[in-house]
Amino acid sequence: MDRLTGIRAASYIRDGRAPVPRKALTSLIMSRIRAKHTKPELALRAALRKNGYSNYRLHAKNIPGRPDICFPEKRVAIFVHGCFWHSCPYCKPSLPKTHRSFWTEKFRRNKIRDRAKSRLLRLAGWKVIAVWECRLRSSPEKSLARIVRMLVMK
Ligand SMILES: [Zn+2]
Repeated sequence: MDRLTGIRAASYIRDGRAPVPRKALTSLIMSRIRAKHTKPELALRAALRKNGYSNYRLHAKNIPGRPDICFPEKRVAIFVHGCFWHSCPYCKPSLPKTHRSFWTEKFRRNKIRDRAKSRLLRLAGWKVIAVWECRLRSSPEKSLARIVRMLVMK
């Protein structure tokens, strides 16, 4: 039992991949971070629909790299990157205080995977856009404009 939160460490579901954080509260927060249909992703999808760009597909299995959002006819693929998991170059989130080597390695692998996905898509003739969570939050219209520019490109 965590004295501060009253949360029992084993009383909720974790994915088993990350080491058990020292504080149950940290663990609870981590367990709530989801890879798919994240808040920034939902916000971007809503903005796209509002602007008439609703013919997108989500996490399409048959598209290289399985982009979060893609417009198959336009060959435009979008990744919505959570700043923490994808080591955002803009807001530079700090490393968790514990299990540093685990996190360094995890983020290194995430970056390699992101690059590989983009490369695969570009080789297949797609335009790839990475939208960062923090930028989507601070200037949603700019992020949307970047995408729209790609969509209207011939
Ligand atoms: Zn960021």
